[in-house]
Amino acid sequence: MRPGLAGGLSAPRNTVHKAVDIVGKTSQKLRESFDAARVSLLLSQVFRGKFLTMSAFVIDAFEFGRSNGLREGATPVAEMQRLTNDLADNTGTINWSVQGGVVREGYPSLTLSVSGTVQLVCQRCLAPFAYPLDSSTMLVLGKDDEEADQIEEVLDDESIDVIVGSRTCDIRDLLEDEALLALPQVPKHDVCPATPMLDALKSDKPSPFAGLQNLKSE
Ligand SMILES: [Zn+2]
Repeated sequence: MRPGLAGGLSAPRNTVHKAVDIVGKTSQKLRESFDAARVSLLLSQVFRGKFLTMSAFVIDAFEFGRSNGLREGATPVAEMQRLTNDLADNTGTINWSVQGGVVREGYPSLTLSVSGTVQLVCQRCLAPFAYPLDSSTMLVLGKDDEEADQIEEVLDDESIDVIVGSRTCDIRDLLEDEALLALPQVPKHDVCPATPMLDALKSDKPSPFAGLQNLKSE
């Protein structure tokens, strides 16, 4: 099981319900104090906008897998808040795709791919550096924890990740997880660039002991 993902999968459904609640409550209050016709027009526009934004990223993971669905896109790094926590800055864009499929054993799957360049902080010299992300992972979907455990036993392959799927799965969460997992645990330059301070240490400044040598020889 991939830890921490099952929770992320059920979150979007709550978010949608919350959004509907908020829209509902707000509409009641606003109707009391403003011109009702104008407000309901405004709300229908807001709700339609929200619905379109949600539906572009929320999929029925099982159906998406069985029907070999495909979504592709590019998301600014700045829109991936959990990812930016680990970065030097939020510049750049993540290109991504989600490909649905069915594994040989008959279970639906999602293959997540992310690529792009992010800015990491070198843990050796603390300078930022560009890191090319390029990662692809197949997730096999179980209906619940019990089935996910069964699938793991059937597949018997440690390299395959099994998660609990959702019928209202926000692929943005999965793609951000994929990008986070693709980051190195300890980001480091292959070779750290020379810094003014290191240069100073390496340069041929006279050693403080040079004077002692002179004293001796006198
Ligand atoms: Zn470095």
